[in-house]
Amino acid sequence: VGDSKDFDSETESVCAFCGVGCQISIKVKDGKVKYVEGINGPANEGRLCVKGRFGYDYIHHNHRLTKPLIRRDDAPAKGLNVDPGNWQTHFREATWDEALDAAANGLKGRGREVAGFGSAKCTNEEAYLFQKFIREGFKHNNVDHCTRLCHASSVSALIENVGSGAVTATFNEIENADVAIVIGANPIENHPVAATYFKQFTKRGGKLIVMDPRGQALKRFATHMLQFRPGADVSMLNAIMHVIVEEGLYDQQYIDAYTENWDAEKEHLKNFTPEKMSEICGIDAETLRAVARDFAGAKAGMIFWGMGVSQHIHGTDNSRCLISLALMTGQVGRPGSGLHPLRGQNNVQGASDAGLVPMFLPDYQSVMDDGVRSAFTEVWGSDDFSAEKGLTVTEIMDDVHAGNIKAMYVLGENPAMSDPDVEHARDALAKLDHLVVQDIFITETANYADVILPASALYEKSGTVSNTNRQVQRVRPAVTPPGDAREDWWIEVELAKRCGLPWTYTDPSEVFAEMKVNMRSLDNITWDRLATEAVTYPSLTPTDPGQAVVFGDGFPRPEGRARFTPANVIAPDDTPDADYPMILTTGRQLEHWHTGSMTRRASVLDGLEPEANCSLHPSTLRKLGVEPGGHVRLTTKRGSIEIMARMDRAVAPDMVFLPFAFVEAAANILTNPAIDPYGKIPEFKFSAVKVEKAEGA
Ligand code: SF4
Repeated sequence: VGDSKDFDSETESVCAFCGVGCQISIKVKDGKVKYVEGINGPANEGRLCVKGRFGYDYIHHNHRLTKPLIRRDDAPAKGLNVDPGNWQTHFREATWDEALDAAANGLKGRGREVAGFGSAKCTNEEAYLFQKFIREGFKHNNVDHCTRLCHASSVSALIENVGSGAVTATFNEIENADVAIVIGANPIENHPVAATYFKQFTKRGGKLIVMDPRGQALKRFATHMLQFRPGADVSMLNAIMHVIVEEGLYDQQYIDAYTENWDAEKEHLKNFTPEKMSEICGIDAETLRAVARDFAGAKAGMIFWGMGVSQHIHGTDNSRCLISLALMTGQVGRPGSGLHPLRGQNNVQGASDAGLVPMFLPDYQSVMDDGVRSAFTEVWGSDDFSAEKGLTVTEIMDDVHAGNIKAMYVLGENPAMSDPDVEHARDALAKLDHLVVQDIFITETANYADVILPASALYEKSGTVSNTNRQVQRVRPAVTPPGDAREDWWIEVELAKRCGLPWTYTDPSEVFAEMKVNMRSLDNITWDRLATEAVTYPSLTPTDPGQAVVFGDGFPRPEGRARFTPANVIAPDDTPDADYPMILTTGRQLEHWHTGSMTRRASVLDGLEPEANCSLHPSTLRKLGVEPGGHVRLTTKRGSIEIMARMDRAVAPDMVFLPFAFVEAAANILTNPAIDPYGKIPEFKFSAVKVEKAEGA
């Protein structure tokens, strides 16, 4: 690492990985990123984790797509069979004109036969353009992205009960709290910079309550660690709320002023005694009582959650409980209080805000509302489109199998790795008669493509992104895309033009200006302002840096009142039995990101964590006769994989933890596609599994 004179340029931007949204300085020498360091952004104050600091050289990997590609007439049958370093057997290089014409010819005029997956890795402008392309171009709402696989159930509960899908307080607000709950999240691995604020909070004497079926590093900092049974969230949370009601610890004044349906919630909670619920959740009644007293006694309390809460068939119910817990204790709308689902990808908040979901236009405005649709079509200068909610990620794949959807445009998503029961998704992709994939590598999904459009990494593009804190930040190009690769917004515009749409954008700033017309969340936030500062929405004046805490004076719901929605205990869909006696749960590791397309090509990160692995308790390994580092076979009703096993005391003896970034042992071959009925999110966190010693291990 040298000083600034060793670099040709330094560019300020935002980390490409998680929803924390750390600001970075990208140092470039000879056209290549050589070094990344944290700068003073509102979410990171100079800090970075290993991914942001070292995970950048994937940008220059020799697998980068540098030319548009078209499937060869003599290519082998579609399947997961392309070597990304030797793709010439399947594809041929094409000019942009040829590739865009081929892409558009397979899409235009096909209406309901087309569906689109956009990306939370792209900018807000690119997400906005993508949903507009499907809605304006094909007149329906079958457009979605990976929020469906992470926090869709949290968003559905928040919109239902609080009136807004975003966090009510930034994670940095923990510095004003005295008690915080972290449930179903492993921030030290998945939101590492946010975790540094959580650790500092405990050093100042804050009480941290960690709830997770898997042990985790944050446990060392916790006042209470509740390692509850997988899938038992509702029973545990209802028991805690039962104690708050029973002992009169709720905030009646707040409930009267700002909520509705309290009597029903109170009545509902009567049956959930800690003694009864402890048999289901595995946490003793006294601990449940102590946690209830600590949280209810907080002067300012926050609740953070992650995919351990959302990725269940009862994910919406889990979030409803967390919302009820915050409401009954009056812990929303004041400094140091609030609800914070820790968002996963760098721009999953922004992509959802920009309308990249099948039920909402930008700013969560319903597609079913005639007035909302006409406000958008007026700006777009287009005809009306369907008032029916569109299909979600997994529903789109089902509809491909049903023969209704025949063509897809996939930008930056990788359903051939990320969908549950992934062979079902792979078969659907193979069945499409036209698949356009826009990405930076030949991903597993691009294996099935008819046309591949070479796109840009985040450090090669211009635009805005919105992090988990609702902070809108500018990203800037530090290097140029390799070869003929182009920024995603440019590709979208060119494709739209060839599909007959009268798009004339020449810069992302023009897209941002159009977004502002119908997005009140962007009021007082301008492209120029973002050149010099990050702004948290809502921003109340042109100089207001934004509201870190919202809903202090009521909620964006009828009469300004948030709602209690009682939740019942629902068993996981795929319960263990004699054939599949253990529980499989999936997740991320610190070094790897989602389907691995970027981090497995980042030399430091892949060097640290090069091999597909799962984690098992020492007693389980002993029973299986497998040494740590030996191999096991994991089998569910969907499929089977062999994988290296690590010894990990954090995993319960009847559990196996499986990261999902490794194509050679793809976790989603095993996962259950059953979905939450509201958020439509799959139950990635619970599958019944058989674990055996691998043959020859
Ligand atoms: Fe990037 Fe998230 Fe790490 Fe920050 S915490 S450096 S945003 S991966």
